[in-house]
Order: sequence, then C-alpha cells, then structure tokens
Amino acid sequence: MRKIIVHKYGGTSVENIKKMKNIAKRVINLYNEGNSIVLVISAMGKTTDHLVEMARAITENPDRRELDMLISTGEQVSVSLMSIIFKSLGYDSISLTGYQAGIVTSSDYNKGKIEDIDISKIEKYLQEKKIVIVAGFQGRTEEGDITTLGRGGSDTTAVALAAKLQSKCEIYTDVDGIYAVDPRKLGKARLLSEISYDEMMELSNLGAKVMEMRSVEMGKTFQVPIHIGNSVTGKIGTIIKDVDQLMEKKVITGLATESNVSMVTITDILYCSGDIYKIFNLLAEGEINIDMISQTAPIDGKINVSFSTTSLDSNRLKSLLKDYSAHKLYVEENMTKISVVGIGMADQSGVASKLFSIFEDIGIYFKQVTTSEISISFIVNNEDSHILIEEISKAFDLSDD
Ligand code: ADP
Ligand code: ASP
Ligand code: MG
Repeated sequence: MRKIIVHKYGGTSVENIKKMKNIAKRVINLYNEGNSIVLVISAMGKTTDHLVEMARAITENPDRRELDMLISTGEQVSVSLMSIIFKSLGYDSISLTGYQAGIVTSSDYNKGKIEDIDISKIEKYLQEKKIVIVAGFQGRTEEGDITTLGRGGSDTTAVALAAKLQSKCEIYTDVDGIYAVDPRKLGKARLLSEISYDEMMELSNLGAKVMEMRSVEMGKTFQVPIHIGNSVTGKIGTIIKDVDQLMEKKVITGLATESNVSMVTITDILYCSGDIYKIFNLLAEGEINIDMISQTAPIDGKINVSFSTTSLDSNRLKSLLKDYSAHKLYVEENMTKISVVGIGMADQSGVASKLFSIFEDIGIYFKQVTTSEISISFIVNNEDSHILIEEISKAFDLSDD
C-alpha cells in the first residue's frame, strides 16, 4: 500500500515560483519513491496581509463573510500555480480549495473551526496517483459559505488532514524547526529536537507564532506527531509529540515574547461597588482583549486594578470608560510580555525565584507577573526585553552559548 504523507508549506516558503519549483522537486522525489502526497499550501508571501489591507482601506470593520471570500483567494492562487508546476514537469496533480477538499467548518467567519472533513474526493485522487494540493486556511460552512480558520490556519488544515487520512504530518517553514526562543529574537537560540504538545500550545498562545495554537491542540487530540522542518533543505528539526514520549522533561523548554502590550491601571475604585464588573463589561463590549489582571487588597475601602492588553488605542479606552472619570486611569504603552514555558516546572520549585534573581542581577523590574502550571509570564518595558531574553536563555540553557 502507498504511504500517505501530508506536507505543509507556509507563505514565505512559497513566496515565488522559484521556491515553489524547489518544493515540487522534493515532492516528486518522494512521489517517485512510492508515497502518496497531499500538499497543503499557504498564500504566497504576504498576500493575506495585502488582501486584509484592501478590505480595511474601505472600512475598519469589513463584513466578516465577505472578508473570508476575499482572503481565501490567496491560497487559491498558490495551489493552482503549484499544480501548474507539477503538470509542466509531467506529473499528474490536482489543486483543491478547502471547499472542494471537503473541509466543513463552523460558521464563525474569520475563525472557523473544522468540524469534519469528507476525504472521499482526496482519497479518490490519491488512488488515481495524483499529487493532491489543498488550499490551507479555509473551508466551508454546512450552508456552503466560504470560511477561513484564523491567521496561521494552514497549519490546522495540515494537521486535520493528517488526522483524517491517518498519515504522517510534516510542516515546512522558513526556519529549521522549533527553537527554544524565536531565532529572530535570539540568534543563538537552541533548536529543540522534540517538544510536547502542551508546551508548544502554551508557547504559541504566549506569542510564538511559528505554529498556530489550534493545530497543535488538534495534533494532541488525534495523536498526530507534528514534524517541523526547513522548506529549503527539507530537513526535519523538531517533532511535537506526546509528553510521555519525550526523552527529557525540561524545567524550561522555551521562551515566547509578545510585543505591543499595554498596561492599564485604574485606581480608587470603591470596593464592593460593582464598578469592577461594569468596567470590564464595557471593555468586553468594546472588544478589548484583556490578558493579565491583578487587583490590590482593599485599603480605606478602595482598590486598584491593572490589566494588560495588546495593541490598545488609549483614546478609545478613555472614551469607553468615560463614565468612570472619577477613577484615575493610567495607560503605559510599548511593553513586552516575556513568558517561559516548561513541563518540568509543574513539579519543580524555585523556578520563579531563579527568574526573580535574574531581574535583580541586571536591575530590571517587571510590571506584572502571572503563572500557569507550565509557564511564568512577565510584563516589562520594550527596551528591557532584549537583555532579559539573553540572560534568561543563558540561565536556563535555551541558547547554544
Ligand atoms: P509559515 O509562513 O511557514 O507558516 P510563520 O511565519 O507562521 O511561517 O512561522 C515561522 C516564523 O515563526 C519564523 O520565521 C520565526 O521567526 C517565528 N518563530 C517565533 N517563535 C519561534 C520559535 N520558538 N521557533 C521557531 N520559529 C519561531
Ligand atoms: N495565509 C494565511 C495567513 O497568512 C494562513 C497561513 O499562512 O497559515 O494567515
Ligand atoms: Mg504560520
């Protein structure tokens, strides 16, 4: 029986025809070795960004259904070009939109969840020995409207197809695999040969955009090991797998950062006045995404509340909270969230104190700190983030230094 392999290539990896032709050569070698290939391709380069910009030039809030109609076209261009390349080289291939590939999603436009995939068509084409090329990032609702899966969603298309086809899943990108730190932030970051689903999900959630969070979640649910490699060399650097299969459980496996964070502090809120609920309700209605929240103990019947949020428009915030002008509102912009993640943290004490000592040694203070079972996050000024990333990486063996 022919072995099925799902290969996914991201936007930078297919940004021009030369790169696409290189990918085609590798795929043809695999095909000639007797494998059945399903390719999942993203839109070329920054196409999706440009499409979103076109819609936003018309209105701040484009209609969500129409936006999906628009941004799904990026992948339609890349899959068809890829198939033209295969055919020009004498290999039989077929390009499919998410709709044609049988990918059914919820009707949440711009962030559809894959509900099912009818793989009968893909299976038929594979039996006919065609190389199947599926547009990532998209599907259709039960009613037949086109949806997209959220930015970075081609990863999810690939993992979902691998789960359904019970095949190997290989995701190729513009770096060698998953590094302990984004190699753009730390040149000497250590390449991780393995990482657990949970750690990868936490890193993605905390800012490491190398893998879309939901794709890793899907890998965990359906027990699909996800192989990550370099799209130019074709070499796999990292396997995302079950925690039980890890060779080693590190206290800290990786570090993620998120920039453009703002910290908002509201002081002099009357304790038990119900204002906390009312303030956060207004923020929710204004679609302000709240991240970390902290509150001081009541003193003289008053409390202070701080929260962090990304890409905040402080004038909008002030107008949303105009009814609460009796409270003092402080907004600090240009902050970075630095998070360390590690499965070994769950049963090891002293990690926070070791981190605090690094801050102390270099004389930097954080504005907010929060923890989960396998992560600790700090908010710091943007300008302090570089030295902190370097020092934390040295202390926890995240770099090759
Ligand atoms: P693709 O277009 O292939 O989906 P992405 O841009 O979504 O690629 O993801 C690859 C990028 O993710 C890399 O160029 C890298 O800068 C960034 N990145 C962030 N964190 C990490 C990390 N921990 N390991 C590897 N890459 C990371
Ligand atoms: N093209 C989409 C995006 O840029 C999907 C993806 O690349 O995974 O978000
Ligand atoms: Mg991506």
